[in-house]
Amino acid sequence: MKTGKIILMIVLTGCAVTAQDNRSEEMGFRAQRIKMVRQQIERRGVTDERVLDAMRKVPRHKFIPENLWNYAYYDEPLPIGEDQTISQPYIVAYMTEKLELKKTDKVLEIGTGSGYQAAVLAEIVDSVFTIEIVEPLARRAEKKLKQLKYDNVFCKTGDGYAGWPEHAPFDAIILTAAPPVIPEPLTEQLAAGGRMILPLGQASQDLVLVRKTKDGITTKELLAVRFVPMTGEVLKKH
Ligand code: SAH
Repeated sequence: MKTGKIILMIVLTGCAVTAQDNRSEEMGFRAQRIKMVRQQIERRGVTDERVLDAMRKVPRHKFIPENLWNYAYYDEPLPIGEDQTISQPYIVAYMTEKLELKKTDKVLEIGTGSGYQAAVLAEIVDSVFTIEIVEPLARRAEKKLKQLKYDNVFCKTGDGYAGWPEHAPFDAIILTAAPPVIPEPLTEQLAAGGRMILPLGQASQDLVLVRKTKDGITTKELLAVRFVPMTGEVLKKH
């Protein structure tokens, strides 16, 4: 056998082994997601099948630093760099369920962070618009979402306070950073019949569900939470 052939065989065998390793690693992560949904999410009362399916499908580990992959499916928030965090899986599922999403909905997210919540939304609805104020995070998330083929997520770098008027109205809006007051442009960009969920407050925060009806806005406090603060323009408004 020629040396060239031998080298080629070694390289090909190497590739096959790596591909197999990746496949079994991915199967391991999938098994962890199935367990995560059963033990952390369904057990706490989330029942919307579309949300549960999305949580089983989105590879959460791919949205966090590789040295934390072993913790990706733990019942905890995790650091994603730039002093920011990705929420605990249960909170992601809970907030998503409260938005009562339909396939045809258009959703706005403020606080792209890692892009994980946007991917979960993108499994359920036709289009997701997401805004991130910290540039390196915005760039990284956009690249990741593209790499994972989430072609129905549209990313923008900037202050989410102003929303995204060019694409308004939105059927649902989700904030994953806590403002001290509800940003008015976001309420304005909510469609009639639309739902918005956000962590509201500073030292103490509550998840609040806002609904826009033909008679105006209603708000309902759901549960106490702890999110990173929303920065930018909203801090000048209270
Ligand atoms: N949804 C994210 C969680 C991100 S944490 C995920 O799934 O990973 C909240 C994010 O909101 C942070 O990345 C923070 O930089 C961002 N943020 C804070 N204030 C903002 C603002 N005014 N506009 C847009 N993003 C903001």
